[in-house]
Amino acid sequence: MPIYNAPLRDLKFVYNELFDADDLQQLPGFEEATPDLVDAILEEAGKFCENELLPLNQVGDQEGCQFEDGKVTAPPGFKAAYDAFHENGYAGLIAPPEYGGQGLPKTLGFMVQEIICSTNMAFGMYPGLTEGACRAIEEFASDELKETYLPKMIEGTWSGVMCLTEPHCGTDLGLIRTKADANDDGSYSITGTKIFISAGEHDMTENIVHLVLARAPDAPEGIKGISLFLVPKMSVNDDGSVGDANNVVCGAIEHKMGIHGNSTCVMNFDGAHGFLVGTLHKGMSAMFVMMNAARLGVGMQGLGISEVAYQNAVSYARDRIQGRSLKGATQPEKAADPLTVHPDVRRMLLTMRAYTEGNRALNVWVARALDMSINAEDPKQREDAEALVALMTPVCKSFMTDCGSDVANMGVQVFGGHGYIAEWGMEQFVRDARIAQIYEGTNGIQALDLVGRKMPEKMGRNLRPFFHEVSAYLEEKVHDERDEMQSLIMSLAKSFGRLQIVTGWIAQQGMKNPEEGAAAATDYLRLFALVALGYMWLRMADIALDKRAGDEPVFYQAKLDTARFFCNRLLPQTGALMSAIMSGSDTMMSFNEAAF
Ligand SMILES: Cc1cc2nc3c(=O)[nH]c(=O)nc-3n(C[C@H](O)[C@H](O)[C@H](O)COP(=O)(O)OP(=O)(O)OC[C@H]3O[C@@H](n4cnc5c(N)ncnc54)[C@H](O)[C@@H]3O)c2cc1C
Repeated sequence: MPIYNAPLRDLKFVYNELFDADDLQQLPGFEEATPDLVDAILEEAGKFCENELLPLNQVGDQEGCQFEDGKVTAPPGFKAAYDAFHENGYAGLIAPPEYGGQGLPKTLGFMVQEIICSTNMAFGMYPGLTEGACRAIEEFASDELKETYLPKMIEGTWSGVMCLTEPHCGTDLGLIRTKADANDDGSYSITGTKIFISAGEHDMTENIVHLVLARAPDAPEGIKGISLFLVPKMSVNDDGSVGDANNVVCGAIEHKMGIHGNSTCVMNFDGAHGFLVGTLHKGMSAMFVMMNAARLGVGMQGLGISEVAYQNAVSYARDRIQGRSLKGATQPEKAADPLTVHPDVRRMLLTMRAYTEGNRALNVWVARALDMSINAEDPKQREDAEALVALMTPVCKSFMTDCGSDVANMGVQVFGGHGYIAEWGMEQFVRDARIAQIYEGTNGIQALDLVGRKMPEKMGRNLRPFFHEVSAYLEEKVHDERDEMQSLIMSLAKSFGRLQIVTGWIAQQGMKNPEEGAAAATDYLRLFALVALGYMWLRMADIALDKRAGDEPVFYQAKLDTARFFCNRLLPQTGALMSAIMSGSDTMMSFNEAAF
C-alpha cells in the first residue's frame, strides 16, 4: 500500500511564514482561527485521512461502486468513513455558522482538502460536491430552501451533486434539453436524462440533493435560457424529515479509467419535483458559483495526487538500489547505490517536488484571496481579491491538474516496471488524476476562459492585482544584495517580461482575429501559471535565505534548492511557450481539415 504523511510542516510554512496568518484572523468572522487552532485541525485531519481514508483508497479502486436495480452501493468501508468524517466535523469546517457550520477560513478548508485528495480522491468527491452545492444554495436559493436543505447537507446527513451534462452536451451547455414545467404551486416538474453525474446515487446519505440545469418551455434559445433547480432524491416533509421517493432514478453507472470509488451515474428525471434556485433563465450564473468552487476543488485533486505520488517516489528511490553513482559508489558495502544518486532520477524527483510545493503555495495564495473577497471590510481589498480569484481559478484548475497527471506519471517512471504493477498503487494515481483534466470544464476550456473572458473582462481589471503585485515585488527585490536571490530574480523577471509581452500580443491579435487568442490559450495559461509559481518560489526562497541559519537548516535549504531548480530548470519553459504562441494561429488553422 502506498505511504502518505500529511505534509504538515510545509502546510504550516505556507500558512504562517509565506503568508501572514494574522491577516486572515483579523478578518471579521475569523477571530477564532488562531494559529494554534489551525495547526490542531491540520494535525487531526492529517491523522484522520492517513488512518481512515488512505487504507480505503485501493479498496475503492479494486472493489468500485456496485449498481443493482437503480441502487448504488459505495465500496466497502466508505459509509463508515463517511460517517466518521462528518462526526469529526470536517464537512462543516468552512460552512456558515447560521446553518450549523464552523465558519472557519476557506484557506484552512483548502489545506484540509489537499490532504483528503492525497489519501482518497474518489472519497473526497462526495463531501466536496456537497460543499459546492451548499455554496450555490446559500447564495441563490430562497430562505425556505436554505433552511430546509443546508443544515442537513452541512451536518452530512444529506449530500449534494451537480447535474449539467447530457448525452449530446458537455462543454456546450446551451444545448441542454432537460425541461422544467411549472406547477401551480410554484414548483417545477423536471424531465430529462443527465449523464456522468458524480455521486448521483449512493448509499451513504439518506437524501441526495441534485442541482439540475434545465430549460423552461418559454426559455430563450441557448445558454441564456437555462435555469437551475433543486431536485431532491427523496421529498422532504414539513417537519424536515425524509418522505417519499421523488421521480429521480439512477439508470446505470459508468465503468471507467479511475476514481472507481466514486459513482458516475446516468440520472433519469421523470417529472421529478424540483424548485427553482435563483432567477428563471439565469441558472448559469448560479451554477457558476458551484462550478468555480468545484474548479478550485478539482485543482486541489491535482495537488493532492502530486503530493502522494512524490512521497512514494522518494521513498522508493531511497530504498531501491540499482547501478552506481557516476562519481563512484556512495554505498560500497551494498551491491549497488540507491536510485537517488542518478541525475535523471533527481530530475524527476525535483520536478515533482517543485511543482507540488509551488502549487501548494499558489493554492493557499488564491484561497486567502477568496477569504478576503468575502470577509474583508475594505471594498477595494474585496474587489482586488475577487479579481485575483476570478483570474486564477482557471489557472489553478488547469495547471494543478496537468501537474497532477504529469507528476503521477513521473512517479510511475521513478518506480520503473514496478510502477506499472497495480500492487504498488502508483498506476492508480495516474488513472485517478486523469479525470481532473477533463471534468468541471476541460483544461482547454479553462484556457479559453482565461484568455477570452477573464483577461478582457472589466477592461482588463482582473489582470491588475496579479501584474501589480508581481512587478512591485520584482522592483523591490532588484535591490536585494544576496547573490543567491539575484539569479532567481533575473530568472523571474525574464519570464514575467515574456508574460507581459504575450499578454499584449494576444490582446492585439485577438481584436483582428478571434482564433489567435483561442490558438494561444493553452500555452498562455501554462506560461501564466509558471510565472505565478515562479513568484511563489521567489517568495519562499526569500524566507528560506533568512531562516536557514536557524533551527531547521535542512528544511529551509531544501526550499532554497528547490527554488533554484524551479527557476533554472522549469521556468525557462516560458521562452518556448512565448515562441509557440507568437507563431500565430495559422500554424494550425491553415491545415487542410480533410487531411486529418
Ligand atoms: C468521471 C466523470 C465525472 C463527471 N462528473 C460530472 C458531474 O458530476 N456533473 C456533470 O454535470 N458532469 C460531469 N462530468 C462531465 C464532464 O464535465 C464533461 O465530460 C466535460 O465537461 C466535457 O464534456 P464532454 O465529455 O461532452 O466533451 P466535449 O464537450 O464533447 O469536448 C470534447 C473535446 O473538445 C473540446 N472542445 C469542446 N468544445 C470546445 C470549444 N468550444 N473550444 C475548444 N475546444 C472545445 C474539449 O475541450 C474536449 O477536449 C463527468 C465526467 C466524467 C468522465
